[in-house]
Amino acid sequence: MENTVIITTSWDDGHVYDLRIAELLEKYQLQGTFYVPIRNSENSVMKPTSMIEIGKRFEIGGHTVNHKYLQNLGDEEASYEILNCKSVLENILEKEIYAFCFPGGKFSNRDVHLVKKNGFLFGRTTRFFNTTLNNKFLMNTTVQCYNHDTYTLNKHCLKRAYFSQLIKFGFFFDYNKNFRKLASEITSNMILNGGIFHIWGHSWEIDKFGLWYELEETFKMLSDIPNALHLNNSTSWKLKKSFADIQKK
Ligand SMILES: [Zn+2]
Repeated sequence: MENTVIITTSWDDGHVYDLRIAELLEKYQLQGTFYVPIRNSENSVMKPTSMIEIGKRFEIGGHTVNHKYLQNLGDEEASYEILNCKSVLENILEKEIYAFCFPGGKFSNRDVHLVKKNGFLFGRTTRFFNTTLNNKFLMNTTVQCYNHDTYTLNKHCLKRAYFSQLIKFGFFFDYNKNFRKLASEITSNMILNGGIFHIWGHSWEIDKFGLWYELEETFKMLSDIPNALHLNNSTSWKLKKSFADIQKK
């Protein structure tokens, strides 16, 4: 169990292209969680029938009602956004929702508290380069399906004091700023010691930047990792937590 590689994926915003992501996940036998807002003024959201369709095979998680950046909201509005996205999705899907993802990766301590209080297991962030679940309530990620520029990657590493990543992946060089290459480098390092590899993205962004081919190649690479467990976000969270509890005893 200690050396197991868990592979999980997540997809934000509930765009209709999520159906294409779901098809690809199925083709490569990967698992994942789709974080779907009820409405979004920036991007269109899929119809409830599509949510039900995806929800039959994959996990659906909350992403607020209106895709609002929580930290800018008053207490009442933040509570509404978090609690109601859960109940609306549960009504549509007729099952319980456990996973939550902060829109824009923005949140304050109050928002973390609200997400916990309203019955979610964890809040997924947009922080990357994590391969463990060492935070009690936040689920961080490993790689985003997007080719970030040098400035963003370096800033991210500096902010989170990931100096080793900065040196290891040499974001000063162009060839290293490719998410498929990053995913393959990180997973090959994980094979010996295990951990959780969490890749996430926005289907609308993948389409906008023509990254479908890169995405499919990444999925192919992930599905070829020997003995890896393919789980959705909540199942990987539960498994890791139960393992941590056993270790504590
Ligand atoms: Zn979002």
